[in-house]
Amino acid sequence: MSNVHELNFLKEKIQELKDEGVYRKLPVLETANEPEVTLNGKKVINLSSNNYLGFANHPRLKRASIEAVEKYGVGAGAVRTIIGNMDIHEELEKVLSEFKREEAAFLFQSGFNCNAGTIQAITQKGDIIISDELNHASIIDGARLSRADKAIYKHSDMDSLEQVLKENRDKYENILIITDGVFSMDGDIAKLPEIVELAEKYEAMTYVDDAHGSGVLGESGRGTVDHFGLHGRVDFSMGTLSKAIGVIGGYVAGSKTMYEWLSHRARPILFSTALPPAAVGAITEALKMLMESTEYTDKLWDNAKYFKSKLGSLGFNTGKSETPITPVIIGDEAKTMEFSRKLLENGVYVSGIVFPTVAKGTGRVRCMVTAAHTKDQLDKAVEVFETVGKEMNLL
Ligand SMILES: *Cc1c(COP(=O)(O)O)cnc(C)c1O
Repeated sequence: MSNVHELNFLKEKIQELKDEGVYRKLPVLETANEPEVTLNGKKVINLSSNNYLGFANHPRLKRASIEAVEKYGVGAGAVRTIIGNMDIHEELEKVLSEFKREEAAFLFQSGFNCNAGTIQAITQKGDIIISDELNHASIIDGARLSRADKAIYKHSDMDSLEQVLKENRDKYENILIITDGVFSMDGDIAKLPEIVELAEKYEAMTYVDDAHGSGVLGESGRGTVDHFGLHGRVDFSMGTLSKAIGVIGGYVAGSKTMYEWLSHRARPILFSTALPPAAVGAITEALKMLMESTEYTDKLWDNAKYFKSKLGSLGFNTGKSETPITPVIIGDEAKTMEFSRKLLENGVYVSGIVFPTVAKGTGRVRCMVTAAHTKDQLDKAVEVFETVGKEMNLL
């Protein structure tokens, strides 16, 4: 008999990963998340972060973070419902609701647990959740935690969505349609105006996950709802504070009623400690910076357009992206991973993304341009893309 502590069942699964050639070690970052970093001991241009605005190591955010630590310490000390709800948490929620142009915003410890906690709190048995097939894993997990039934519609396919709505309207009490605002693998934007119209026609609620839209789309990064001018017509406007905002955390913006209910029933708020003061201080500063000026989002879009057009003119296929997310579609899985590896050898880090994260035969490297990149860094990266592309006969 083998010893139970040896975890042999896991060892077998790990061996399977190795046999399939998908076993890997996590890359180790030895510097702050900047346009140029030291990764696994090598200096490279970073085209892989979600740090869209370059806020993750911004001096103003760092200063605000340190001030919050000096005054409030390093930990909130409890869940929000007991004694972890500090005045700075509530102040941040007020700034967030102003930024998002909604009545209220409810703060979570991460985007992931915001979806996990909110979706189950606002749905129940007798309801149905209707979800885009390409929605993020945290939405899928959130829906799994709910007692509501679930249905999927084809990616951004409004006929498919209407079909699902038609079939189910009379069978359920409440309907919740959920979509990513910006889809992270292709960079395309949800057809939110059409989704909202269908929702209103079939009396359904709408929920937008704006992880990649917050800080990117809309006036000074207010998000997809702002981009389309749909304020007041999307019930739950979820966002993360970990990507463009550069820190950590999540929130859902919407009505005061939503706020009241979540403060009683969102499980991550009842059972997990509140965000630490350092994060709250930095996030509040980031939002103030965005409300003062559009310079950060302007720079992001300027860089994204510059990089995309350069790659496009070399002949790379950058797909249907409408945002700074720039996929370079290679197709074949092995070739994609080889391309990513060769880019890294030549000093550019872009992660390769293949099946099952994206459909078979649509392997890509996903470039994430930020406001902090210089044109010189982007030019250097494009040069490396050209060299490696030619070497591999991709151009
Ligand atoms: C990253 C991401 C999340 C999770 O956000 P975290 O703040 O990193 O937990 C949720 N939804 C989508 C669409 C994301 O891309």
